[in-house]
Amino acid sequence: MSDTTEEMYKGSQERNLMGHPIGLSICFLTEMWERFSYYGMRAILILYLTKYHLFGADKANMIYGAYMGMVYMMPIIGGYMADRYLGSRKAVTYGAILLVAGHGLMGFHGPAAYMDGDIVVRDEFYINIFFLSLALIITGVGFLKANISTVVGALYGPNDPRRDGGFSIFYMGINLGSLFSMGLVGYVGETYGWNYGFSIAGIGMFFGLCVFLWGQKYLDGRGDPANPEVLKEKSPIGLNKENTIYLFGMGLVAASYIMMKYDELVIQFVGISGLIMVSIILFYSFSQCEKEDRERLWVALILIAVQSVFWALFEQQGASLTLLTDQQFNLTFLGITFKASQVQLLNALFIVMLAPVMAWLWLALAKRNLEPSTPAKFGYALLIIGAGFIIFSWALTLDDTSNKDFIWLVFIYLMVTLAELFLSPVGLSMVTKLSVPKIVGMMMGTWFLFTALGSNLAGVISSLMGSGEHGAAAGTLDMAATVELYTMIGVFSAGVGLFILLLAPIMKKWMHGVH
Ligand code: GLN
Repeated sequence: MSDTTEEMYKGSQERNLMGHPIGLSICFLTEMWERFSYYGMRAILILYLTKYHLFGADKANMIYGAYMGMVYMMPIIGGYMADRYLGSRKAVTYGAILLVAGHGLMGFHGPAAYMDGDIVVRDEFYINIFFLSLALIITGVGFLKANISTVVGALYGPNDPRRDGGFSIFYMGINLGSLFSMGLVGYVGETYGWNYGFSIAGIGMFFGLCVFLWGQKYLDGRGDPANPEVLKEKSPIGLNKENTIYLFGMGLVAASYIMMKYDELVIQFVGISGLIMVSIILFYSFSQCEKEDRERLWVALILIAVQSVFWALFEQQGASLTLLTDQQFNLTFLGITFKASQVQLLNALFIVMLAPVMAWLWLALAKRNLEPSTPAKFGYALLIIGAGFIIFSWALTLDDTSNKDFIWLVFIYLMVTLAELFLSPVGLSMVTKLSVPKIVGMMMGTWFLFTALGSNLAGVISSLMGSGEHGAAAGTLDMAATVELYTMIGVFSAGVGLFILLLAPIMKKWMHGVH
């Protein structure tokens, strides 16, 4: 190796496989199976709640929203525990075990709810088992999701030019896992029984755990705890610190379980936490930063807050959009008849197809000095997803039968995915680049907090679309309310997008040369 090449790869893992650090393949496979289980389960969740447990669309969507909010909030705690004590590798292992337990438990769903006159009768024991399963998944994702990305980052030295490419490959793993699971779990869940679908998600996660347990030796110590001795020290409760953290994880499962039971409180919980974080960061920017750093933090904060609008529309996929797909659309397309839950795979499919095109596009534009700035990309993302929902809600009014044309589902999934590609892959790197190194962890946590807020809002908004039907028709959407709400969120998102585009030149200035 020449001196400059050696300099470039300094700090990167030495063992390679197909041009990338060998650890990447382990992270790729683990996250592929984790997302397989996560998105497979999400694909059928709302249908399961309405068709098996006969929850009305209002309550089912609130549960969905609470779950989404908690799932994206928990990585803050999981990330902190890993940074401070466990290291990413142990945190991922622990998260994976919780996930196998959670998805596995979803496979036991007890008897279906039924109507006794006007009253819905549910088996409360199994409803509690269901909430416990969700709580295990929430905590499992909390320990796994952010930390496995940290392991990917740790495989590359600071100047390694392969880093971005590595993350793109990793993002492919995420979407390959989702693609296959939404097809398979959706089909099995809707055809043979929800519990079989959930069990397949659980088996997928079991593969993920096995891959990681077997493959962690290929990480060559990346993601190990910074101070392993500290983990052996006794904690105030007598256990060593490592086991104390695992016990604390059980406490988080219990807390998540309670939050799932009080789903309407999640929005306040996440919202207030978000406000507190923004205030702390603003205060920090005024009291501790020079002008350049301060203005960079402001840009990061604006974009962090704005992305919550994106997720509020994006996460309609697993909520109202799937109910709508089930109730209002002709699901035969190109000779294939889909299950409603399977249609969600269009998002992952479009990502796999379009991510390379977008990467090429950004490069081509950059060569001509035309690549939009990060704030502009966020603006476009909101504009695209907003326009998507406005046009889609108009399309819903064109045909008042429940045999609407599948092509409109293709359209909305395409718009959602295009927007995702403008915002999601750039988001995390934007946070790391714009924040002061000292508070980068806190900034990342705040990013996830606002993802959580948006995802929770998705459920809350969906819950307003219910027709109030119970029994066999539980989950039926009120079309007038749905069209109105889709138009409203579309206009809101597009409006915020335009505003960000107008502000983009100022924000670009505030970024002071960071791209
Ligand atoms: N689809 C991506 C994933 O599952 C992004 C999700 C998110 O950040 N909300 O990793």
